[in-house]
Amino acid sequence: MASLFSKFEGLAGALGSVVAAGGRNPFAVVIEKPISSTVGIIEGRETLLFGTNNYLGLSQSERAIKAAQAAAATCGVGTTGSRIANGTQSLHRSLERQIADFFKRRDAMVFSTGYQANLGMISALAGKDDFLLLDADSHASIYDGSRLSAAQVIRFRHNSPDDLYKRLKRLDAPNSAKLIVVEGIYSMTGNVAPMAEFAAVKRETGAYLMVDEAHSFGVLGEHGRGAAEAEGVEADVDFVVGTFSKSLGTVGGYCVSDHPELELVRLNCRPYMFTASLPPEVIAATGAALEDMIAHPELRQQLMSNAAHLHAGFMKLGLNASKRVSPVIAVTLDTVEQAIPMWNRLLKLGVYVNLSLPPATPDSRPLLRCSVMATHTPEQIDQAIAVFGQAAVDCGVPLQANAA
Ligand code: PMP
Repeated sequence: MASLFSKFEGLAGALGSVVAAGGRNPFAVVIEKPISSTVGIIEGRETLLFGTNNYLGLSQSERAIKAAQAAAATCGVGTTGSRIANGTQSLHRSLERQIADFFKRRDAMVFSTGYQANLGMISALAGKDDFLLLDADSHASIYDGSRLSAAQVIRFRHNSPDDLYKRLKRLDAPNSAKLIVVEGIYSMTGNVAPMAEFAAVKRETGAYLMVDEAHSFGVLGEHGRGAAEAEGVEADVDFVVGTFSKSLGTVGGYCVSDHPELELVRLNCRPYMFTASLPPEVIAATGAALEDMIAHPELRQQLMSNAAHLHAGFMKLGLNASKRVSPVIAVTLDTVEQAIPMWNRLLKLGVYVNLSLPPATPDSRPLLRCSVMATHTPEQIDQAIAVFGQAAVDCGVPLQANAA
């Protein structure tokens, strides 16, 4: 009889070789105890955290922790229902107002995760006669949303407004709606979307534009509204999607829009309707973390200067790091045989980063993905640079000869 599990055999083999190459399963790392936003105990040792997406350090916000405690004490620890049934408390509505106001938009929908926000918005908006235009390097939640929708999917070259424009022009479907989806900062590489050019394509072609600001919310733009704010084209963006699980340090997702029909999307959005809403303590903590973010714009400046510090250190070492400075800095290695020992060596020397292996990486090469935080101290960043240098030497990773 056929086994349901035979399809996992290849995966088991691949995982076995990854574990054998480094002595541990990199996908089963446990942070035994978070000490602060930047340090955690891993395998019994204090380890510098350079792979958490906690860009502003707000997972440890005192204001958010107190708000969570108070909300749990007064409203309980769960809602036990969907947003369109018994799962909407006043807290949910006020957080939606707060998020909409922050983005200067008419309305917001709050989802239980950012993954569900993409899944829900894309599948609800794009029907069978519509076209979805997706950047080739889109996050899994965007691809999964497109599968859940009945729309026709067209992929365009990563960060290429020209390719997008050509593909839109080639479409002979005047009666179909078109939705372009891009990300503010790409999660693996740190690449930033050329939003002004994408907005121009949107204007020229009459398409709708959605931007997932998951990694750019709280990070880019004068007020932290993301890549569209940074390039002054927010008015061209129809839907902003994002997550609370990065710069706000909690969990949950959102979509903001000026389209009044957002109210109807609530009733046609399966990942919103058929799941329990976020618990009161998460909603309260998120609102408080957002207040913290607004009250401390200096965190954003510190984040960018920390990112520039780490990036400069990597360039000086001769590592093949992301070209542009952003809080996501990926070091690309040529082979998986280099990446696995290097990642293990980094952890042994006290620095945790994300190991990203093909096929989950954009150009089929492995990445050591670092995310920088506003709360990293200069000493911690210097320490991480020194550890990368040491690990590269220990693992025989070639450094670029033209290093500055
Ligand atoms: N979009 C992007 C670009 C992401 O990187 C992520 C998380 N990695 C998500 C959406 C999903 O966010 P969440 O963790 O809230 O589900």
